Amino acid sequence: MVRRDLLLAAVREAGRISRAELGRRTGMARMTVTGLVTELLAAGLLAEQEAAADGGRAGRPARSLTLGPAAGGVVGALVTTDGVRVAAADLTGAVRAERHDPDTGLDTLAALIAECEAEAGGRTWATVAGFATAPTADPQQYLGRRIIVRTVAELSLLGEVGYGVATGQSDVCYLRIGTGIDCGLLLGGVLHHGATGAAGQIGHVQMDEIGPFCRCGHRGCLETIASTPAVLAAVETPYGGAVAGRPRITAARAVALARHDAAAERVLADAGRMIGRVVADLANTINPGLVVLDGPLVEPDGPIVTAVRETVQRYAQPEVAASTGILVGTLGSRAGLLGALFAGLRATPAGRGSRTLARSVVSPVSLASPEPAPSAPATSVAAPMVAAPMVAVPVVTVSPGERERAVRREILVEALRESGPTARSDLVKATLLPRPAVYELLAGLVHDGIAERCAPAETRAGRPSPYFRLATSSALRTGIEIGGSGVRVIVADGAGQVRYSGFMPSVLSGDARPLMRAAAGFVLDLLREHGDRPGPDTRFAVSVPAPVHPVTGRFGERSVLPMFSGYSPGDDIAAVLGRPVQVINNGHLAALAETRRGAALGARDVLYLSADQYAGAGLITGGRLHPGAIGYAGEVGHLNVREVGPFCICGRRGCLTPFLSPAYFAALHDRLPGDGPPTEERLLALAAAGDRPVQRALLDAGRLIGRTATPLVTVFNPAVVVVGGRFTEPGTFVVDGVRESLLRHCSPAAAAALTVVPATLGRDAEALGAIESLS
Ligand SMILES: [Zn+2]
Ligand SMILES: [Zn+2]
Repeated sequence: MVRRDLLLAAVREAGRISRAELGRRTGMARMTVTGLVTELLAAGLLAEQEAAADGGRAGRPARSLTLGPAAGGVVGALVTTDGVRVAAADLTGAVRAERHDPDTGLDTLAALIAECEAEAGGRTWATVAGFATAPTADPQQYLGRRIIVRTVAELSLLGEVGYGVATGQSDVCYLRIGTGIDCGLLLGGVLHHGATGAAGQIGHVQMDEIGPFCRCGHRGCLETIASTPAVLAAVETPYGGAVAGRPRITAARAVALARHDAAAERVLADAGRMIGRVVADLANTINPGLVVLDGPLVEPDGPIVTAVRETVQRYAQPEVAASTGILVGTLGSRAGLLGALFAGLRATPAGRGSRTLARSVVSPVSLASPEPAPSAPATSVAAPMVAAPMVAVPVVTVSPGERERAVRREILVEALRESGPTARSDLVKATLLPRPAVYELLAGLVHDGIAERCAPAETRAGRPSPYFRLATSSALRTGIEIGGSGVRVIVADGAGQVRYSGFMPSVLSGDARPLMRAAAGFVLDLLREHGDRPGPDTRFAVSVPAPVHPVTGRFGERSVLPMFSGYSPGDDIAAVLGRPVQVINNGHLAALAETRRGAALGARDVLYLSADQYAGAGLITGGRLHPGAIGYAGEVGHLNVREVGPFCICGRRGCLTPFLSPAYFAALHDRLPGDGPPTEERLLALAAAGDRPVQRALLDAGRLIGRTATPLVTVFNPAVVVVGGRFTEPGTFVVDGVRESLLRHCSPAAAAALTVVPATLGRDAEALGAIESLS
């Protein structure tokens, strides 16, 4: 049975596969494969067809295997105040049965599941359920089966990704404006649960410190202002709605009213503006490619959506605003249910189905890929140990398959890095990836010299599984940081051990080109000095102080640093080095370094905040770097903190950055003997020398940074916030300020799990992060 499953999984994994390839991927003997395939064909679990012609290759056309009609499917369920909804889909994602019952009991759930399964037929590979409120009993025990439980917002997000308006997107923020305001996050194609499963609590982002109390225990949360009940209450007011006994207005009525009634329209628009403020913050810091709005008050081009769009336009950085789609969910009340099916399809290798087959049948679900099931108790909404890859199509040049493969490869490398020499069977368990995928990826990693076979770390009973570890090759990894004060270079060996480093003082001038070339020249000199030179296995990564598009490696056309606009720094550096280079934003790389080598070692969801005059940030989700749809994740420096604040280099007023600039602290510099322009150095020297007002100014700067990052931390739910940057150099003042602010203003759920620590890698963080990005 195990071998049958393995074989089926491999077929599902591939979609369409030849017998020979099946043997290679499963490691089974040809005879075994032939025997099992015959059995599975007879049972209808597999089907056989002529392989598609591929470029007119001569010879006998190969016959390929796909899943058969009896291969079964998945079951999804959603239990909300609206009742129980259950559906069953086959492995291609086509819905085969669907039921709805207004009753919300677990017995109703059990009955509907049984009905749907009977109608759909075949084996059920996964059952996924979402509960709006905690069920009265453990649904897993009650139903006598394993159930994957997700939040309703997460499932609705997946529904829109699998079947709706977000099809094919990899960075999506899904907002449901209902009784509360919840948000599901898909980051880099992976569902982001947060460190404690509390991610997405956008409704508890604090808008008003002295606002009304919220059910979470805070004051002035977004949902006290913009949730459906809050909006309906406000709509009612001009019509005497608060009078006892009078029936409350419905959402549908409010929407209809807003079409011709200015007061109602303004109430909805106001809610949209409040939501838009938070969405703009998320656009600037999480940088989704698409924001999906949903809920009973939300209609396409209605007042809420229009106001959200206008507010994002006003408060997000121009490039971000221009590239962030804001759309309305298309699945309505079915979103969560379809999302449960989609999650089920991802949760089992069965889910993949055949891509080609699926496309011809319906279905965006052809993009589905297996999501490893959480090892946590099934009723918990906690994050799985390993984030699940999901296919995404960020750019036309990367196919969903390639993208998925890359993510899986990254997960496997990450597992090897964390656990050292590991048995292949343990890697399957640790990564929760399908076994054939692990076998194949490991072979690829060995072939590419990234991993290698090694001696077993322990002797075990039974058939030994081969051991693997990351290869300790002779390859050099070079991290290059282009910073405000100069170029820092760190050279490490293939295992990441630092061998030597160098620094070249320089300034960023009006033309970035000469600096990039000079930096590359400096790298060559440094390598030569130590008897090295760029060979075929020398790899380079560059840290730059501006957002870089994750795919093109270019700065945006409207970069805040004019000399960078539309420029591809990697091209010039690569031309000098004669080797390809990858270019990544500095905040992102510092986050990676602090997670892999520094203050957040071992944490999987990390926010790095750089406290200095250019305040930046980096996000690590599930151990992986999150660049954002266009590389703008973590741009906290341009979050608006004051409507009529000072002008910022980005051309707008009231960004965080000007409040951290030396000019803003000018008055404090007067305390230093002598004169000269106010600089960060002088300010930090004063703080280090024990000047209390300057220390207090740094504490306040930390408070401001923390307050500004509150929406991000509330929604992202990191385990660790690492505070780095030059402001941390004289002491913990700025870190204390950030901590104080975050603990005070974040939603209680996000604050409860939060640790705020100073960075430990200092000025090497970016270059070390560049080295880490090469592993
Ligand atoms: Zn709240
Ligand atoms: Zn700005």
